[in-house]
Amino acid sequence: MLFVPKRRVLIPKPKSRFVQVVCPNCGYKQIIFDHATFPVRCLSCGEQLVVPTGGKAKILGIVERVLE
Ligand SMILES: [Zn+2]
Repeated sequence: MLFVPKRRVLIPKPKSRFVQVVCPNCGYKQIIFDHATFPVRCLSCGEQLVVPTGGKAKILGIVERVLE
């Protein structure tokens, strides 16, 4: 009998990357880190675009493309 060890350990592998977001308020485009640990604001109008959550940041802006 084949014994399969129970090793279903979920290794947290955060795939951090940069995304280009468009400010929903003014349309300004900027590159942000999707695991940002600090709030990111639009450089043009000051609208908050990213809310840090401790893991993957919550992006409030429109994600236009992902840079890998
Ligand atoms: Zn803006």
